[in-house]
Amino acid sequence: MACGLQIKDEDSGYNKNLFCIPKHYEEDIERVFIPHGLILDRTERLARDIMQDMGSHHIVALCVLKGGYKFFADLLDHIKALNQNGDKSVPITVDFVRIKSYCNDSPTQKISIVGEELSALNGKNVLVVEDIIETGRTMKALLSKLKDKEPKMIRVVSLLIKMTNQSPGYRPDYIGFEIPDKFVVGYALDYNEYFRDLNHICILKEKAKEKYKI
Ligand code: 5GP
Repeated sequence: MACGLQIKDEDSGYNKNLFCIPKHYEEDIERVFIPHGLILDRTERLARDIMQDMGSHHIVALCVLKGGYKFFADLLDHIKALNQNGDKSVPITVDFVRIKSYCNDSPTQKISIVGEELSALNGKNVLVVEDIIETGRTMKALLSKLKDKEPKMIRVVSLLIKMTNQSPGYRPDYIGFEIPDKFVVGYALDYNEYFRDLNHICILKEKAKEKYKI
């Protein structure tokens, strides 16, 4: 079974003053939880694992927007580097789907999937690239839509999975980090659209949640 780099409950991250944080967010961040460099190092290894398993046929990489776009771009850069320098290589094409399931720092009842044309998935090896899985509700909804398109194979990579009590145990095929039940932002993960423009994955101060609440 796939496992990711585990970050335990007692690991509280790093002092934000030791990292570069955009001025406009300095007051909002409590701690740096996963520094950008560590994200990239782990992503490089995920790319290698994925290519070892899927690298013999054309891959359709499906980015789950908006939170997955940074991870998607960096993962594909690493996969391209392997394609460029390895003994064998496979074509990678890309597609995008947009899902919204959160408002403030809580899940909404309704999961909206936008842009589900995706007809080109028929008979293909599909790699779904997601930012974070909590209960797995969003991913299960997406996977059931994707299966209708009759791909040959579907694999899921998630940068983060959250270990929560109510988690029904859905695990993707590849996992970057396994994190405790904390709300995180940065590296394209948002709080009401803010903090996507932050390189590190961070924990917010409570007063920042009030400030950006809708
Ligand atoms: P699930 O359906 O697995 O419970 O939740 C997955 C979705 O919830 C993710 O795609 C993401 O949009 C959102 N989400 C869950 N936890 C977090 C979090 O800690 N931070 C942010 N920014 N989004 C989260």
